[in-house]
Amino acid sequence: MILITGGAGYIGSHTVINFLDNGKDIVIFDNLENGHIETVQTLQKLGNVKFEQGDLRNIEDIEHVFEKYDIDAVIHFAAFALVGESVENPAKYYRNNTFGTLNLLDTMIKHNVKKIVFSSTCATYGEPEYTPIDENHRQNPINPYGASKLMVERIMEDYDRAYGLKSIKLRYFNVAGCDSQIRIGEWHEPETHLIPNILKSTFKCEQPFKIFGEDYDTEDGTCIRDYVNVEDLAEAHRLALDYLNRENKSDVFNLGTENGDSVKNIFDTCEKVLDKKIPVEVAPRRAGDPAKLYANAKKAKEILGWQPSRSIQDSIKTAYMWEKYFVEELQK
Ligand code: UDP
Repeated sequence: MILITGGAGYIGSHTVINFLDNGKDIVIFDNLENGHIETVQTLQKLGNVKFEQGDLRNIEDIEHVFEKYDIDAVIHFAAFALVGESVENPAKYYRNNTFGTLNLLDTMIKHNVKKIVFSSTCATYGEPEYTPIDENHRQNPINPYGASKLMVERIMEDYDRAYGLKSIKLRYFNVAGCDSQIRIGEWHEPETHLIPNILKSTFKCEQPFKIFGEDYDTEDGTCIRDYVNVEDLAEAHRLALDYLNRENKSDVFNLGTENGDSVKNIFDTCEKVLDKKIPVEVAPRRAGDPAKLYANAKKAKEILGWQPSRSIQDSIKTAYMWEKYFVEELQK
């Protein structure tokens, strides 16, 4: 079986669907702090999905999973991922993202499970020295979230040398959209991300969408990011595990579309895709936002054979359908 930590969360749950579609049996390990039991229940209707509620910070919780199931490999998502919160509460990030992962890796070694695909982030690069950012860009995180993930990357390299643990580190850029059948979607409380926030402003009683800063050193003054579709991203995890099974070699890959879209660009595209005016206002910059982040993802294409195929319009469409379903059905 494949153990997917954080499988009840946004990217984790989409990856569960991808693995199920490819005939795999899954154990989800999630503390449900950000993940949702409703998501697990939906996934369990789609295939062989076991669920264990537990917390990475308690090594006994992880030990229990490895004793109960025959685990072949781990796909590790479970983490906190809000930059601002990590600045205010670094202990939460280092305890869960770093120390929690150490518990996971030690348990893997103990049970002789030596393959892991890890959700890392472009936040490990910090303020970019050049764009597009490739995997050789200096890693110099500017917040505890990025630092907590970079420490794990380093630990994995040391664990490879010392214990033969093979890891694929996937450095995500921005992620958007949801399952094309709208069975699951992006469900954060509170929501802080760009596309869901724009879409939420289209529903009654929601506040106008706020653009965080239009005085950046970019063409239209708003920040540029690289928005990769979540189903494309999920596919990269399967390809990464195939690669590990085939080559038994550790490596690291950026995952992005290689296109930079500004906040205004995304906003305009949302209005076009939905064919409606969306209330908007300009607000001050949000702390810690670099002006421009987008990926050079050639390595993932060349070595993993990964080819993101869904457009930003596709991501906006599915994200909107999910929001609508969420507002009309799930929140009733
Ligand atoms: N952003 C915005 N308004 C929002 C949410 C986000 O203008 O309500 C901007 C944010 O400042 C950043 C970009 O959209 O420049 C992407 O932010 P998001 O939180 O989606 O992802 P991040 O880049 O922080 O991982």
